[in-house]
Amino acid sequence: MGNHRAGKRERSRGSRPSPVVPTTTLGYTGGGKRRATKPVHAGSRKGLVPGLASVPTAVGAAALLLAAGGAVTLSQNGSAPVDFSQASVRAASSDISAALANRQQAVSRDSRRQALADAADAELQDAADAQLVERDARVQKLALSAQSWADELAKNLWASPLPPGTYRLTARFGQFGLWASSHTGLDFAAPHGTPILAIAAGVVTETGMDGAYGNKTVVTLEDGTEIWYAHQSSYGVSVGDTVVPGQQIGTVGNTGRSTGPHLHLEVRPGAGDPVDPYSALLVHGVTP
Ligand SMILES: [Zn+2]
Repeated sequence: MGNHRAGKRERSRGSRPSPVVPTTTLGYTGGGKRRATKPVHAGSRKGLVPGLASVPTAVGAAALLLAAGGAVTLSQNGSAPVDFSQASVRAASSDISAALANRQQAVSRDSRRQALADAADAELQDAADAQLVERDARVQKLALSAQSWADELAKNLWASPLPPGTYRLTARFGQFGLWASSHTGLDFAAPHGTPILAIAAGVVTETGMDGAYGNKTVVTLEDGTEIWYAHQSSYGVSVGDTVVPGQQIGTVGNTGRSTGPHLHLEVRPGAGDPVDPYSALLVHGVTP
């Protein structure tokens, strides 16, 4: 059939005379045939090389078998056979893919978590910084307020009129006894010459002998209150002097109407009637 067709083609080419030995007599060869004629059919190769498949590699064979839905089980030296079945390979591949995906997700999760944590840390740090600034401001404000309050308080704090341990109270305000009326002050019995101290800051407005009071010093405070120190044996300040709490203004004596050395202390708000010195001292932080 091939010969017949080839002969027909030769003949159809026309004028050239047929060769002495026609190609058909040389036997049919694919190469010669294809060189001599145009490729008539593309699928001719399969038909031309029947049974001449290339030798497949082991991997290729396994792949072919797998592609065909088969299974290859390899074993070496009696060890557990490695399953290369399509299902197991697909499963392993799927496992690897899943693991990779998980890892990526984990990495992504971790970086996102880290980013969130960093952001949270930054926010917390900012908040903490802001709180510190605010707290510092508050503390400073409080300190200023406390200082001004302390200053104000210090201005109003009084001192004991005699050094601690040098005296004992012998007559309270309002008592009746040696006096024509109730006692107008507080008596501190103490040895002759014991220092008499200013109980509050003020200005000396009077010093001198005053009848029953004996030698007396008057210190007028800023608010107009007068403090009278009586029965002194000596004076330590003069009219016009400014005194501070605790400053010595004289010494204990027995001048005036007195039965023994002592300080008679009076507190006269607004230079008016006397009030209980004991209470006044307590109010200003001194427990006589
Ligand atoms: Zn008295």
